[in-house]
Amino acid sequence: MDLHEYQGKELFRSFGIPVSEGRLATTPDEARAAAEELGEPVVVKAQILTGGRGKAGGIKLAETPAEAQARAAEILGMDIRGHTVEKVWVERASDIAHEHYLSIAFDRSAKRPLFMFTTQGGMDIEEVAASSPDALVRLHVDPLEGFHPWHARRLVYQAGVEDPAEQKQIVAIIGKLYEAFVGCDATLCEINPLVVTPDGEVRALDSKFTVDDNALFRHPDLAEMRDVAATDPLEALAREKGVTYVKLAGDVGVLGNGAGLTMATVDVVTFVGGRPADFCDLGGGGDAQGVVDALEVIAKDPDVRSIFFNIFGGITRCDEVARGILRALGQMGIEHPIVVRLDGTNAEEGRRLLREADATNVHTEATMLDGARRAVELAAAV
Ligand code: GDP
Ligand code: MN
Repeated sequence: MDLHEYQGKELFRSFGIPVSEGRLATTPDEARAAAEELGEPVVVKAQILTGGRGKAGGIKLAETPAEAQARAAEILGMDIRGHTVEKVWVERASDIAHEHYLSIAFDRSAKRPLFMFTTQGGMDIEEVAASSPDALVRLHVDPLEGFHPWHARRLVYQAGVEDPAEQKQIVAIIGKLYEAFVGCDATLCEINPLVVTPDGEVRALDSKFTVDDNALFRHPDLAEMRDVAATDPLEALAREKGVTYVKLAGDVGVLGNGAGLTMATVDVVTFVGGRPADFCDLGGGGDAQGVVDALEVIAKDPDVRSIFFNIFGGITRCDEVARGILRALGQMGIEHPIVVRLDGTNAEEGRRLLREADATNVHTEATMLDGARRAVELAAAV
């Protein structure tokens, strides 16, 4: 789960990382009031779940409250790479002498958290990594050993920070960033830029904070930060119902049991010339209610023209799945053609239930390949 800049900064503040004073605003009037409270000048910053806002015109300086109001009016409602700006963060503007870059992310290949630090902050870190790789200092932390102050000192010395007072502040921030990263079960905490003011004060001017979804159950306060309005409505519905669902670009709804079979189903639909509308995994032991929930999510997608159910019953019993399909049809009046391939545990029983129900839009197929072909044909015919 990605957090907004203002949420990440709130967490930074709670872990003792210095940030600027600011207020959230959803209207130009609120932005004006925030600027009056904070004292000018301020920066007005679009709060969207994507980076590069500065280049896209989503960050503007304002010298007076009236100007803050005008800049907020420009930024609110702006579309930045498909994200509509609904909120702005109004922050007391900082004077900047230097911009550094500091992050800690989970490095899956090394199976360890990885710190990255460079004095060439502010711009795209990918650019720094490509153009001057030596300037980007990288350091893993062994999670069993944990973080030690020498990690921070090494990052700061290797990157070439020379001022002792600045070194001291950055070393402290690195330690606190590690605490925030571990304490919040984050997968990424990034500060770009980490600025040094002309007075030599170090402060986080931006925040990119990603929390591991699988750890949210133990952070109810973080789970509440999810911006439901900014997530895909179908994926939000799926999450609410506990359905594993990923929206794709095509028109054949795909439902399987188990991630492996579902991925293979997506491949087979593509192989026979179709375009999958989603990846939806019922998981093991899927009961009738699980099928009803999954079908509800898939059928809500306006792009879906046919639905392909591909079930191999191991733990999952095919008769349960068939009951779920019939119950969903009864409850929701789904009109899409549904192709069902049932195999494995209680498949005979499942097919018999479907046959006897005699629903006109349900078609059974014996193999995965035939089922995919049929679903693609039916999608094309709609
Ligand atoms: P991003 O473009 O989405 O990464 O947004 P940032 O929050 O990193 O801001 C982009 C750039 O705007 C920064 O690198 C700064 O150069 C500039 N900026 C942001 N806040 C301030 C501020 O308070 N004062 C000044 N002078 N510049 C700022
Ligand atoms: Mn930034």
